[in-house]
Formats: sequence, C-alpha cells, structure tokens
Amino acid sequence: MIQKIDHLGIAVKSLDEAIPYYEKALGLKCEHREEVVSQKVRTAFFSVGEVHLELLEPTDPESPIAKFLEKNPAGGIHHIAFGVSEIAGQLQQAKNAGVRLIHETPFDGAHNKLVAFLHPKSTFGVLTEFCSTKPGAGCSCSH
Ligand code: ZN
Repeated sequence: MIQKIDHLGIAVKSLDEAIPYYEKALGLKCEHREEVVSQKVRTAFFSVGEVHLELLEPTDPESPIAKFLEKNPAGGIHHIAFGVSEIAGQLQQAKNAGVRLIHETPFDGAHNKLVAFLHPKSTFGVLTEFCSTKPGAGCSCSH
C-alpha cells in the first residue's frame, strides 16, 4: 500500500552549489548526505514536514542523473518517491496493471531503504520510485 509521498528527487549538477540555496534562501537544513554507489550519485536530504527532498548529484557520466542533466542542464525535478508498506507487492500490482518496471527487484537506496523505479513511459512521464524501510535496518543518520 502507498502510505505517503516519501520524497521528491531533484537533480543538481553540484550538491555544494545547490545546498546553500535550500539552507540560506529557504531556511531548510541538510540533514543527511550519502553516496549511493549503485546509482552513481551523491545525495543530500532535507525535511519539509513529512516529505523529504533528495538532491542528486551524478558521480559518473553514466549516472542516470548525468543523463537527465544532459537533457535538463539547469537541473530539475527528477522523480517522485512513494513510501510503501511492502515494496515487492507494490511492484507486482503495478506490473499486473501493465506498467513497465525499470527494476523488477528492489535494490538498496539511500537511508537504508529498498527502492525500485517504474518506467516514465508507463507513468505519464513521471519517473516513479517506490521505497520502503528495510526490515530490521534502522537509519544510520542523526534524524
Ligand atoms: Zn529517490
């Protein structure tokens, strides 16, 4: 079951350049930074009420975020992530409804979460992530 919007993923060329905007201009606080090697990105998280913003900086030209920035040089909203209670079942439900999955099997994302993506061709142009907290894995960061 989808429980909430967990976060919005926002592609940026440089975390170090983008974070001051969120901190100084908006008054948010960067709470967590983490590299996700499997996705070739560095991430920075902000809380906005219950929802998080996940800034994504590519670490490699082959990163999906690098490809997004080629098409959108200024950066921009990259994906929406739904927090789900049980990720495999949620993927199966989408698949049964005819949605193309980017990941048939969830993988480790930032923040000790399991994540998987639906293909934007099947979701009316919105790259869609499902994420769920890994069983037994507490978040290692400070919040
Ligand atoms: Zn995400």
